[in-house]
Amino acid sequence: MPTSSPKATGKKTVTTKAAVKRMAATKRVNPRAKKGTAKKAAQVQSQAEATLERAIAERKKITERRQPLGHLLLEQKLREAGFKGVISSDKKILDKYSTDESIFSIRPQVVIQPKHRADVEVAVRLVATETKRFTSLSLTPRAAGTGLGGGSLTDSIMIDVSRFMTHIGHVETRKGVATFTCEPGAMWRDVERMLKHHDLYLPPAPASKDICTVGGAIANNAAGPDSLRYGHCADWVESMEVTLFDGQTYTIAPLTYKELRALQKKDTAHAIIAREVFSLLEQNEKTIKAAEPKTSKNTAGYALWHVLSTTLANFKKGHGTFDLTRIFSGSQGTIGIITSLTLRAEPIAHHTDLIVVPVFDLLDAGAVIEKALEFNPINIELFDGLTFDLALRNPQFFKDRLGMLTYYKVMLSMYTTYHIRYARRTPEFTLLITLDRDEKSLETERVVTKLRSHHGKHARKVGNPIEREMFWQIRRASYTLSKFQDPEKRPAAFLEDMVVPTKNLSKFFAAVKKLLNKYNVTAAVHGHGGNGHLHFYPLLDFTNKTTPALVMKMTEDFFSAAIALDGNLCGEHNDGIIRTPHLTKIFSAQVIDIFTQLEHAADPDDIFNPGKKVNPRFDVKASIRHTN
Ligand SMILES: Cc1cc2nc3c(=O)[nH]c(=O)nc-3n(C[C@H](O)[C@H](O)[C@H](O)COP(=O)(O)OP(=O)(O)OC[C@H]3O[C@@H](n4cnc5c(N)ncnc54)[C@H](O)[C@@H]3O)c2cc1C
Repeated sequence: MPTSSPKATGKKTVTTKAAVKRMAATKRVNPRAKKGTAKKAAQVQSQAEATLERAIAERKKITERRQPLGHLLLEQKLREAGFKGVISSDKKILDKYSTDESIFSIRPQVVIQPKHRADVEVAVRLVATETKRFTSLSLTPRAAGTGLGGGSLTDSIMIDVSRFMTHIGHVETRKGVATFTCEPGAMWRDVERMLKHHDLYLPPAPASKDICTVGGAIANNAAGPDSLRYGHCADWVESMEVTLFDGQTYTIAPLTYKELRALQKKDTAHAIIAREVFSLLEQNEKTIKAAEPKTSKNTAGYALWHVLSTTLANFKKGHGTFDLTRIFSGSQGTIGIITSLTLRAEPIAHHTDLIVVPVFDLLDAGAVIEKALEFNPINIELFDGLTFDLALRNPQFFKDRLGMLTYYKVMLSMYTTYHIRYARRTPEFTLLITLDRDEKSLETERVVTKLRSHHGKHARKVGNPIEREMFWQIRRASYTLSKFQDPEKRPAAFLEDMVVPTKNLSKFFAAVKKLLNKYNVTAAVHGHGGNGHLHFYPLLDFTNKTTPALVMKMTEDFFSAAIALDGNLCGEHNDGIIRTPHLTKIFSAQVIDIFTQLEHAADPDDIFNPGKKVNPRFDVKASIRHTN
């Protein structure tokens, strides 16, 4: 539930659009100040501080005035404005939309399902107008609702794009690059099926690709096993259409300096955002570059460090591009609503080899992974001993998913592996390394030999397709299998997205095990070993009144363990409600302020998914669900 006091809303650093502009203008004076003008600089500084204070006071007043009345009029107003989609405040519907895959439960007041882009524009225009009278109004986009951090939950209006905005266009190939366009509510699995006809795929496919949408994945900047080589979703965006704060939809795509200068002269929402972002980059180039988390994956904050493809000086000389898709991807609907996406696709790699390395001594895992990375694998995935054990003990799980014949073959393979190959010892970790045989320089057997002499004594190429399938089945089942330990509990997503440098992975896993013991909680671990990225979901009983306090305590302890090992809290699941309050652990106050200025420039009336990424406004403990 949202916090009620303005102080607790974290709105302290929010400024009005006008104030941001004034501050940016005063800040821009500083670099040009000549020697001997220190006094003037101090005056400017104190003016800027006074402006900020005034803005904070203004914002507090707005927050205090927030009240829910506006929702009652909403349906009537939306219809009058021409909204064609579905509008619902039915209790059952609101209950359904109160949860996603996170540990939170927050009830929206209204759920709207736009039929098309024009409906999204109507909704944004209406909320932007009505929020002046009814300040509690906001719009939170929702797609398939599989997010793990509460990103799509709201106490105001939920705008669900997954019901109608599902169109998938055709593949076009230009200069050897294949692209396609789709609406944000298109299911990933449907896009995958369409691309397969062209022998293509979208490489950052998340493990949830069968249940999530493309729009939700882009808005979260999701990633998956092949992200080790191919990066996050943001890396595959050619362009996108986004409805911005003025209720107009704009095409957002990379721009040259000349194109940016032309855009900056306009007076549209797109131009305002481009101007503000460019100004932030001009004033803070070094700070922004230095702020990029050093881990190989990240979805924390706004990726301002990726907007320019070169240095500012080079860009102004006409090189590289200014690409706002880099911050709209992963922005969780906090700066606009995506209505269409044009994405690049990659040919499917048909000739791949799988090397499996059972690691019996925990300390070996990091070393094997570091060695394997030298051979540019497509992915390096892992699952722990508990996952393997759960797979062995729950054959029924696989029976329900595989055809009868495949099921028997997979089971035979699993038991042979355990009883004969592993002599009934369960490895601490099993590493799955996929190599691309299309690369001429690569000889899989040579890699196996190298790994064997580098802490991977039991490495071997798995030629049998059934055995390969068996290993992938276990890897993909880890999250669901963990429920089998205690069906009365829920595998809880709140520590599930931490990343550390691969050299620290073994130490991190040891720290995680120690902390799980300390709290007497079990969790099966799996993840993207090549990225030093571990997913684990402690089994907790949310009907127990003490669970929220336990969650808060565990969060601090586990996050500290990751930070102590140069880690990051947020590899691919984004900030949502759970991680937004902890961004201060990763970014300096100055960087958080830059994020806040960016968000405010793109959302001056705070109508887009407030409380996520910046300005945390949800009381984490009080918003935790009470059911499993
Ligand atoms: C079993 C399981 C496995 C998972 N595995 C992975 C994984 O491997 N990798 C990974 O990255 N994630 C994973 N996830 C998390 C989640 O599934 C992904 O992030 C997914 O891509 C979210 O898509 P969705 O359609 O469910 O989006 P939602 O959860 O509905 O929304 C995600 C975010 O995007 C915003 N949003 C939605 N639509 C729009 C729009 N049109 N415009 C602007 N903002 C919008 C929402 O407000 C929200 O903040 C997993 C989840 C589960 C349950």
